[in-house]
Amino acid sequence: MEATLSIPFNKPYLTGKETHYIYQAVQSGKISGDGMFTKKCHTFFEERFGFKKCLLTTSCTDALEMAAILLNIEPGDEVILPSYTFVSTANAFVLRGAKLVFADSQEGNPNMDVASIEALITPKTKAIVPVHYAGIACDMDAIMDLANSYNLFVVEDAAQAIDAYYTGRDGQRKPLGSIGHLAAFSFHETKNIMSGEGGMLLINDAQFANRAEVIREKGTNRSAFFRGEIDKYGWVDMGSSFLPSDILAAFLFAQLESLSEIQARRKEIWETYHTAFQPLAKAGKLSLPQLPAYASNNAHMYYLVCASLAERTALIEVLKAAGIMAVFHYLSLHTSPFYANKHDGRHLPNTDFYSDCLLRLPMFYELSLEDQARIIEVIVRFYQP
Ligand SMILES: *Cc1c(COP(=O)(O)O)cnc(C)c1O
Repeated sequence: MEATLSIPFNKPYLTGKETHYIYQAVQSGKISGDGMFTKKCHTFFEERFGFKKCLLTTSCTDALEMAAILLNIEPGDEVILPSYTFVSTANAFVLRGAKLVFADSQEGNPNMDVASIEALITPKTKAIVPVHYAGIACDMDAIMDLANSYNLFVVEDAAQAIDAYYTGRDGQRKPLGSIGHLAAFSFHETKNIMSGEGGMLLINDAQFANRAEVIREKGTNRSAFFRGEIDKYGWVDMGSSFLPSDILAAFLFAQLESLSEIQARRKEIWETYHTAFQPLAKAGKLSLPQLPAYASNNAHMYYLVCASLAERTALIEVLKAAGIMAVFHYLSLHTSPFYANKHDGRHLPNTDFYSDCLLRLPMFYELSLEDQARIIEVIVRFYQP
C-alpha cells in the first residue's frame, strides 16, 4: 500500500534551543516584559542590522497599532496603503478613525505602485504605509521623496521583511524597516524567524523614541523609571500593554541565533523553485517573482502568478490531490465586506489580479529535497501535460 504523505504549506522550524532559553527565562524569576531575553533580542537586532531603537511587541499588529498612536492619527486623517495586504496594516489606522486610501499594486509586482501614490495625496494625508510583500522591497527612495515633499510619515509594514535589503540611489544597502520613520516586523509562526506570535516596532525617527516606550507600557513612564532616569512613575499618556513576556523573547532569541542558517536554507529552496520554473515562465505559461534591482531576496515566500483565477483553482486542486498544500493570499481590502462601502470606488485592477492569480508554494526550513522535487514535478506536469 502506498501512503500519500502530504506536504504542508508551512511548518514552523525549531532550532532546538527554544525550550532551553524558556527554561532559563522561567528560572530567572523575571518573566514579565523587558527581561534578559528581550534585551538580548534588542541587542541582536541593533548589532546585526544596525537598527536604532527596537521594541519587541506581542505581534506586528500591535507594532502597527503603536505606530498609528505615535503618529497621532485622528478621525479625518487619510492613510495611503496597498489594498493587497493583510488586514492588520489597515486595522491599525482604522482603529484611530483614519480613512484608508488604497493604492493599486504594480504591474508585475504585488507591491504598491509608487507612481500612483502622488495622485492620492490630499491635504488630509498623514502617512504612507508601504508593505514589502514577500520581503521584496518597495521603492523606498521614491516613497521617502514623496513623504519629504508633502510632509508625511512613512510606516514600513516589514512583517515579511526580516533580513531583506533595499539599495537606494546613494548606493547604500539598507535593511528594510530602517528607512521609514517607523517600521513593524512580525514573528508569527508563518514568518522566517518566529516565536509563535510576536512582533517588533522599529523607531528610526528619534522624536518617537520616548513616547513609544510609554505607549508600550500602558501609558506610563515605567521604562524610564527602571533605568533610574526618574524617581517615580505614573500615567503620562495613552497606551496599552504591547510588550511581550520574556518567555516569548527567549523563544525568539533561539531563532535569532540561527538566523543565518535559516536564511541560507530558505534561499536555497527559493532558488530551486525559481530555477525549475524558468522554462515555464519563458514559455509564457506563468509568471514568477520579479526582484527590482534595488531589492534583495530574503526568501520569505515563493509564489507563482497564474494566468487566471480558473487556472489557479485548477492548479490548487491538482496539487491538493498530490497531497501538496499551496495557498492563495490576500483578498483585496478595497472590496472586503468591511471596507467596500467606505472605499472611494476606484478600480484597482492589479490588486484584483494578484488576489485572483497569485499562488504560494510550500516554503519552510525542513522542506526536503524530495518533497520539493515532487512539488515542482506536479506543477511542471500541470503546465506541460
Ligand atoms: C504577518 C503579517 C502581519 C501581521 O503580523 P502579526 O505578527 O501576526 O500581527 C501584518 N502585515 C503583514 C504584511 C503580514 O504579512
